[in-house]
Amino acid sequence: MSQQQFDNFTASTLYCEKCRATTPVREKLLLVLPDREIFDYLCTECGSSVGQREVTAGEKMMAEALASPSRRRRKVPLRSVR
Ligand SMILES: [Zn+2]
Repeated sequence: MSQQQFDNFTASTLYCEKCRATTPVREKLLLVLPDREIFDYLCTECGSSVGQREVTAGEKMMAEALASPSRRRRKVPLRSVR
């Protein structure tokens, strides 16, 4: 069960045409839309864009829910202190 959340991990290396090699990439938030966010992947060697990724609002909520299971337990029963 816990292993499945690693499937959503973003690629840390991508093929760069300029470097002609697979290089580590940096994720940069490119655009924020009401229903999605677009990320740009930049080669850390030459700085050129090697790819993009779109994250929809639904996916983001899923990822956040998976990343922080403690949120589900946030509901604290109200109790009178007096
Ligand atoms: Zn490069």
